[in-house]
Formats: sequence, C-alpha cells, structure tokens
Amino acid sequence: MAVEDSMVQVVVRVRPPTPRELESQRWPVVQVVDERVLVFDPEEPDGGFPGLKWGGTHDGPKKKGKDLTFVFDRVFGEKATQQDVFQHTTHSILDSFLQGYNCSVFAYGATGAGKTHTMLGREEDPGIMYLTTMELYRRFEACQEEKQFEVLISYLEVYNEQIHDLLEPKGPLAIREDPDKGVMVQGLSFHQPASAEQLLEMLTRGNRNRTQHPTDANATSSRSHAIFQIFVKQQDRVPGLTQALQVAKMSLIDLAGSERASSTRAKGERLREGANINRSLLALINVLNALADAKGRKSHVPYRDSKLTRLLKDSIGGNCRTVMIAAISPSNLAYEDTYNTLKYADRAKEI
Ligand code: ADP
Ligand code: MG
Repeated sequence: MAVEDSMVQVVVRVRPPTPRELESQRWPVVQVVDERVLVFDPEEPDGGFPGLKWGGTHDGPKKKGKDLTFVFDRVFGEKATQQDVFQHTTHSILDSFLQGYNCSVFAYGATGAGKTHTMLGREEDPGIMYLTTMELYRRFEACQEEKQFEVLISYLEVYNEQIHDLLEPKGPLAIREDPDKGVMVQGLSFHQPASAEQLLEMLTRGNRNRTQHPTDANATSSRSHAIFQIFVKQQDRVPGLTQALQVAKMSLIDLAGSERASSTRAKGERLREGANINRSLLALINVLNALADAKGRKSHVPYRDSKLTRLLKDSIGGNCRTVMIAAISPSNLAYEDTYNTLKYADRAKEI
C-alpha cells in the first residue's frame, strides 16, 4: 500500500507576548529563525540580542541559555495570522480527507499558550474550526455538478472522563464502536449550519457550554478537551449507476492544558496517572508515543485507556492524517512549559 511520506505533521505556533510578559524582567526564550526553525533559550551574546529583548531592564547576568535548535514542518511566529496557520496545517490534509481518510488536528500546549485562539479563535478572527468548515463548503460548491455531498458537524467535550454534547447539552454520552460506521457517540447531535454566521454562532455557543470557560483565569479551566468534528459523505452523480459512498471525518481538537502532564513526562516512557493529571491527555500522549515506537513495527497502541483516545481510535494512526500544532508562549515566564511542549513536539515528529 502506498503511504504518503508523513502521516503526522508537527508545527509550532508562538503567540505574541501578553502585556504582562512585556513588562520588565520578562524576556523572550524563543527565537523564530525561519519558517521551519526555532531556537529555544538562545545563548545571549555580549550586549544581548538587538530586537529580541523586551522592556530593556533585563541587564543582570543571565545564565547561559540551553540554545536548542528545533526543526519542525512549520514554525509560525507571533505575526502569523489564522489564515497562515490554516493554510499550512488543515488545508494541507484536505485532499486526503476528501479521498476518504479520517484526519485529526490537535492543539497541544500549556494553558495560556494559544490553543483555543488557534482552534476556535474569536468571532472577529475565527480559527481553524471555522476556516476548515468554510473551505469544505467552498470546495463542494465548486463541484456540485459531479458530486453529491453531505456535511455534518458535531461539537463535544471530554471533561473528567465524561463526554458532553456542547451543542445540545444533556447527560454524559457513551461511545460505541460500530463495525461499519466506526467510532460513534450515542445521542450526539449533528448539525448542518446553513451559513457562515450560523457556524460562528454554533462555535461560540458550544464554547460557552464548555465545563470551564476556556478564557477564565480559573485554575481548573484547562482540563477539558473540546472536539469539533466534521463528517463528510460524498457520492459521484452518475446517472444509472450506483456509486460507492465515501464517508470520512475530520476531528479538530482543542486539548486540555499540558502543564500537569509535562512535569511527569520522560521521553519514551509510559506515563502513569497521578493526582490531578488528565487521564485523556496522558492516554493520548501514550498513544502517540506507541505509534512513534511502532513505526515500521507491530506494537500495541493503548487506545482503550481513555475516552479521548477511544473516541479518536479511527482518526489517529493507520491511514489517518494528523497535524499536531504545538502552541507556546515566547516568555521566560513559561520557560518550563515551553521547553516541555517543544520536547514533546520534537518527539511527535518520529511518528
Ligand atoms: P489556551 O487555550 O492555550 O489556554 P488561549 O488561546 O486562550 O490559550 O490564549 C491565551 C491568550 O492569548 C488569549 O487572550 C488569546 O486571545 C491570546 N492569544 C493566543 N494566541 C494569540 C495570537 N496568535 N495572537 C493574538 N492573541 C493570542
Ligand atoms: Mg484554551
């Protein structure tokens, strides 16, 4: 079987510094070199980096930086727009999606690193969830004559190992594996937004229904995973012939904050669940690690360990296309989180 050269793409997005990070004693620990390369904790030459310092009051002795160079499929600096990120992430796997492969796009990173901004965005500057759906509508409109399409969307949350419908909130929902249809969530609502405005309204409403509003400064606001899924059914319009129906799903995921997971993480090591550690996030990391270890070999992939990984069993690994967007802050305030996220993203390249 022909396999495209990369089943998993890993990109990094560095968000702009916040006003607090720009204050004195805050300095950048990430230097974007070009479209594919960044340096973490650059070694500071005498006199500092012109244009790299913020505030200008950081003139005490800085310890020698780690000066680590990372290479990814793409690196987005703070000036990158939502459209830039969309073009080089989800957009690049849309052809595979329309050929019938399930796809998944994850935003991974610590709380405050820019995951929700990237996936959901704001109504006036919507993110990948919106841009992907609109691009699919455009493509289908362009070939309406030859093909018949159906696009359905759903939006759910995994919080505390329970699945909740974000568009029609009700009790927790169960996962079922159907031999024909793949992984299903029983009772989940599906929608067909008729316009861009309606789609935006649904995304906003769904986000408001998340157990913890992701923009809250609340300490527990970061433990929910929001999963926006787009289901596409297509069939050629050929008179007098029954054509095979093609069905595929794209899962766009705003993951819970990785800060708790990272502190216990060791490269290639299986993670054990500890107090307050998000089981679904750890299970996802383990699944990705197993896929990286298994490259070219047969090995057990522990999809069954959490709700999130059971839900995504038919959307990661195998023939699926996956994009991981690692979101990071540029500030020394988030030094450990950024370092952990970059190390993990670097590891994910091996899948
Ligand atoms: P997370 O979901 O990872 O916890 P958010 O997406 O909520 O982080 O981002 C934290 C803050 O930074 C928010 O106020 C968000 O609007 C802002 N932000 C994140 N990324 C960007 C960006 N690329 N450009 C402008 N503001 C951003
Ligand atoms: Mg968030």
